[in-house]
Amino acid sequence: KKEDISCDIAVIGGGPGGYVSAIRAAQLGGNVVLIEKNKLGGTCLNTGCIPTKSFVKSAHLYDEIQRSTEFGIKVNQADVDLKQIVSRKNEVVSNLTNGIRSLLDYWKVRVIEGEAEVTKDMISVKNNKIEAAIQARNIIIATGSSPAKLNIPGAELPVVLTNEEILNLARVPESLTVVGGGVIGMEFAFIFSSFGCKVTVIEYLDDILFNFDGDIIEVIKEECGQRGIRLYTKAKVEEIDMEEGGQAITAFTQEGERHYVVGEAVLMSVGRKPNLSSIDLAELGVDLNAKQNGIDVDEHMATSNPAIYAIGDITNKIQLAHVASHQGIIAAENCMGRKSVMDYTAIPSAVFLSPEIGVVGLCEKEAKRAGIPYKISKFPFAANGKALSQGEPKGFVKILYREETHQILGAAVIGPGATDLISNFTYFIQSKMDYRTLHHTVFAHPTTAESVHEAILGITGEAIHF
Ligand code: FAD
Repeated sequence: KKEDISCDIAVIGGGPGGYVSAIRAAQLGGNVVLIEKNKLGGTCLNTGCIPTKSFVKSAHLYDEIQRSTEFGIKVNQADVDLKQIVSRKNEVVSNLTNGIRSLLDYWKVRVIEGEAEVTKDMISVKNNKIEAAIQARNIIIATGSSPAKLNIPGAELPVVLTNEEILNLARVPESLTVVGGGVIGMEFAFIFSSFGCKVTVIEYLDDILFNFDGDIIEVIKEECGQRGIRLYTKAKVEEIDMEEGGQAITAFTQEGERHYVVGEAVLMSVGRKPNLSSIDLAELGVDLNAKQNGIDVDEHMATSNPAIYAIGDITNKIQLAHVASHQGIIAAENCMGRKSVMDYTAIPSAVFLSPEIGVVGLCEKEAKRAGIPYKISKFPFAANGKALSQGEPKGFVKILYREETHQILGAAVIGPGATDLISNFTYFIQSKMDYRTLHHTVFAHPTTAESVHEAILGITGEAIHF
């Protein structure tokens, strides 16, 4: 049916950026329309954060079972059933996406399924159910990103998978070549190595997880060694070919020498490119950033066209779900007349390897690059009762601090529960807390959070257990 719709705010894309901004605008009294061409929840819920973490749970469980005798538990036989892992993942995803649908209904956000086409005067959505012409006072562009592929021969072969395909395999491949040792590539490398797959990672930069500090990378590399994950760094993948037996041969150059890795499947994990093509930005007067790889936005998330906002991966600022969601809240509040500002001082990241990693604020690499003076306090999980009783003594809590101001500049946790523990520091940094005020804060025993306290005490040389 044909419909003319008029609303306060039209949100294009229903990922963690778009659906959160739609709810926030509706909370503030806005009449909101959300247009989604594929599935509510976007990359994060359908093919990103949530499905991978559902796989990580299965991988951890299997890892734990492998070492169960150490804990006095005998298990006769354990096998990986990838079909069940995939179907559990699908159930988790559909629970969550149904939840989003209910929330949007509750806030009376009108959801229109279909691809939005945006012109100067109107947004149109056409599908077999509806032909909608939407007029909106403000538009929030939240169209997200898609997996990038290297422009090399063989990149389009069917054995070359993206995150979307690898999450729906029918069985565990015997061997997997991961092109790209960033966060996403390494998460899949660990998951599939836990499932018994022989994994090789090829990374172009000097190291895997290149943005992280060296001491964190070292812990992960050691773990890769123990798991038998082969790592090649400073290595440029140039071609992927098929062998007669159906194996993929990935050719790469490292220090001028050509090498070949054979694998049953190849995961291409070389970053994500913003979905810029579906909207004619030039016609709308929406500028790209200096690198031309994302929509340019100001601190209010407004684009160069003041009626149009952009949030999430499409801005290519920090491609994380919680960043997209918070940018969405800022944009929605500004559309509804507030003057909210996006603050990037304390944005945490969580990496789900074994051990887990959580970081927030400044890291040593950045501090050195920017010439910012800092000092370090570190507390190892090997001195923490809970970590030892769990059999997870690897890793540490590290704090970068400034003595003159008594402030924490950044923190990194690698070890058990790191992705949850990092929230402590997010709060300390965001609220510019004086670390001395935490000396007499009591942390429950035995918890890994005691290591957070000990690292804070360590700033003044007063840690008790180290
Ligand atoms: P998206 O989630 O990409 O959503 C955009 C939506 O817009 C899509 O649903 C798309 O269909 C829709 N759309 C596009 N064009 C149109 C159009 N013209 N009309 C209508 N709809 C349109 N981040 C984390 O913080 N933690 C993690 O653990 C994590 N793990 C990840 C693991 C993987 C494998 C991947 C790939 C990503 C992961 N991320 C993680 C990143 C996270 O998924 C993204 O940062 C996040 O989804 C970005 O949200 P978004 O709303 O900007 O875009």
